Amino acid sequence: MKIVVLPGDGIGPETMAVAVAVLEAASQRFGLGLALEHDIAGHESLQKHGATVTQALLAKVKAADGLMLGPMATYDFKDEAKGEINPSKFFRKELDLYANIRPARTYPGVPTVVQPFDLTVVRENTEGFYADRNIASGNSEMLITPDVVVSLRRITRSCCERIARSAFELAMVRRKHVSIVHKANVLKIGDGMFIEECHKIAREFPEVQVDDFIVDAMMAHVVRAPQRFDVIVTTNMFGDILSDLTAELSGSLGLGGSVNAGLDHAMGQAAHGSAPDIAGQNIANPFSLILSASQLLGWYGQRKNLPAFQAAAAAIDAAAEAAVAASEATRDVGGKLGTAEIGQAFVRRLLAA
Ligand code: NAD
Repeated sequence: MKIVVLPGDGIGPETMAVAVAVLEAASQRFGLGLALEHDIAGHESLQKHGATVTQALLAKVKAADGLMLGPMATYDFKDEAKGEINPSKFFRKELDLYANIRPARTYPGVPTVVQPFDLTVVRENTEGFYADRNIASGNSEMLITPDVVVSLRRITRSCCERIARSAFELAMVRRKHVSIVHKANVLKIGDGMFIEECHKIAREFPEVQVDDFIVDAMMAHVVRAPQRFDVIVTTNMFGDILSDLTAELSGSLGLGGSVNAGLDHAMGQAAHGSAPDIAGQNIANPFSLILSASQLLGWYGQRKNLPAFQAAAAAIDAAAEAAVAASEATRDVGGKLGTAEIGQAFVRRLLAA
């Protein structure tokens, strides 16, 4: 498997170094034959190539089997005409990575305000309220007069259908329960279509229990009793917000892995941002990127029917659980180690298992 690695901005380089060490250790232990191709995106690319991402980089990623994207300083990238392109949006759109899969689970040893839980948010990734990616050219957020803004939301039947299918397929290998999250009481037509398509796909999966929740009420349900949920499927912006909440409920945003998957490509990506406030201090939590790397291996193994990749993903997840329980973690989840030391301990643990 060929994986392009882009460390990103802020805490990206230090956390990606750990994720790379873990991928190399997994490759060694499970005979995966991973080939990691290192390149740059974000501020470093902007300085060197005049753009945060380039067409040459896209061609390289398209020729590979997967991408590991570090956190990007997206808020700094405001003007595409100056090469300031949001790399995350760029790859999601160019590679049609329509399913953002964001698991969240509690870990023994990490204090939380909720009961133990294990759920996954399946978020539509290519349309909705995301004005920078929901039209073919340009941006669907418009300044009509200096005091009036219109932002368009796109909902497409085929996009609803494919994200629903991702959710139900995932539920079949989990606890066979899908919760649909929407705002159909207000967005009657768009979210009405989303619900309709989810129920249409549900008929192909009669073993899966289905329920639905209005997004605002869902915030209360998920805080009150996250253990009720298994797979949650929702549109882009609701999923973005809800999955940060569920990651934080699990103990820390730094424990939330994320993969963006399409039919032919997938991108592992930390759930958090570039955290400039702690960059370069060796205190950033690398687990989000480690778990994203695990998800990328799992996606490839499932797609190519390669059990070694799925075994590697399971071993990384198990090592993460054991490491957190042994306090081999950063201070945000009750540990005492620095980012680099966590990487060394994690690799030792993975190779010794
Ligand atoms: P952030 O996620 O970078 O940080 C929020 C808070 O969480 C900060 O206090 C930070 O120190 C902490 N934090 C984040 N990741 C952590 C980790 N791994 N370990 C320990 N603590 C961690 O969000 P922000 O500060 O709003 O954004 C910073 C930049 O990141 C902005 O430019 C924003 O646009 C960008 N961003 C990028 C992505 C992405 O690339 N997917 C996602 C969110 C934000």
